[in-house]
Amino acid sequence: MAKVLRCGDLMPGCNAVIEGKDEAEVMAKGAEHARTAHKMTAIPPEMAAKVRAAIKEKQ
Ligand SMILES: [Zn+2]
Repeated sequence: MAKVLRCGDLMPGCNAVIEGKDEAEVMAKGAEHARTAHKMTAIPPEMAAKVRAAIKEKQ
């Protein structure tokens, strides 16, 4: 089942929607997006947990 992450759930004001075939792909793309769009060079463990919680099944 495909997964989707709305970055705005974590970063208010960001309209990026990250999709992947599974949670791992969404996490990888999300990390790349965080690095390029939000200048986050590392994802702290508590942020990774929030990201995981925000990932939803793609409708
Ligand atoms: Zn974003």
